[in-house]
Amino acid sequence: MSKIGFIGLGLMGNPMAANLVKAGHEVAGFDLNAANLQKAGGAGVGIAKSAADAVTGADVVVTMLPAGKDTLAVWGGGVMTAAKPGTLFIDSSTIDVGSARGAHEIAAKAKMLSLDAPVSGGVGGAEAGTLTFMCGGAAPAFDKAKPVLEAMGKRIVHCGDAGAGQAAKICNNMILGISMIGVCEAFALAEKLGLSHQALYDVASTSSGQCWSLTSYCPVPGPVPAAPSNREYKPGFSSALMLKDLKLAQEASSAAGAVTPMGAMAAQLYALSNAWGQAGVDFSGIIHTIRGMQEKK
Ligand code: NAD
Repeated sequence: MSKIGFIGLGLMGNPMAANLVKAGHEVAGFDLNAANLQKAGGAGVGIAKSAADAVTGADVVVTMLPAGKDTLAVWGGGVMTAAKPGTLFIDSSTIDVGSARGAHEIAAKAKMLSLDAPVSGGVGGAEAGTLTFMCGGAAPAFDKAKPVLEAMGKRIVHCGDAGAGQAAKICNNMILGISMIGVCEAFALAEKLGLSHQALYDVASTSSGQCWSLTSYCPVPGPVPAAPSNREYKPGFSSALMLKDLKLAQEASSAAGAVTPMGAMAAQLYALSNAWGQAGVDFSGIIHTIRGMQEKK
């Protein structure tokens, strides 16, 4: 069992830290938000007075923060001097590839091991301990992280060197955003053509149109009972987070000189949808925007 420092105890970090405690690890947590910190305390997480306090004596440190600037602020703050040399730092936030590589450099200078390990699976997966971790970093860091990550997830994938975890995350979510819009367009067209939702689902789900956006997160109520469309599009995975990830994909695409026109279009459509008040609904709720656009034609 390890001593773990956990910084960032929000919607995701709180249940993740709780699962580390359940697995028998000794966890010291810190968050700027006092209510989130108290909630973690209720799940058996030790309450630290600062980020530096949380990492003192730790074998492993996990950060779960909103954005790249937050990871760089925490990793570049007092934690590298407060932790013992050789401590493993894992960042599970979803951040841009450049900041992820910058965080690895901060850790390397301080003679620490480091891993970028963003997740998929959302709050439900964090609570159930079934997250997928996409990991970037050297093999010794991955090997040390694996048993810790297994307390919070069911699939732990080593994607490559520094930044490869974040690269895998944004590439996957770019597929997801684009495919969801494609599925929504097909349902909106079917409605205009008098084809029932169920008939389209029955054909496409067993034909070449089959994809996760259709068969797990079907954007119309009915065919997939567990999909957010059956509970008024309550997330799930919010449109705000989908836009965040699509923007990260576009930043990475520009920096790398890749050609991603569908990703760019998906980012613009989610930006439009969010501007029309959809930011807090599940990302499958983009069907409302697609239908609205068709109505205006
Ligand atoms: P959240 O806003 O609920 O939690 C972030 C926490 O970090 C907050 O409690 C905040 O107070 C804390 N924080 C910010 N700066 C800090 C600092 N300097 N020191 C200590 N604490 C600090 O966000 P979340 O939904 O838990 O998401 C966390 C990360 O996981 C994000 O990068 C997000 O994109 C990613 N993610 C979220 C989901 C999801 O469904 N919520 C799914 C996959 C990935």
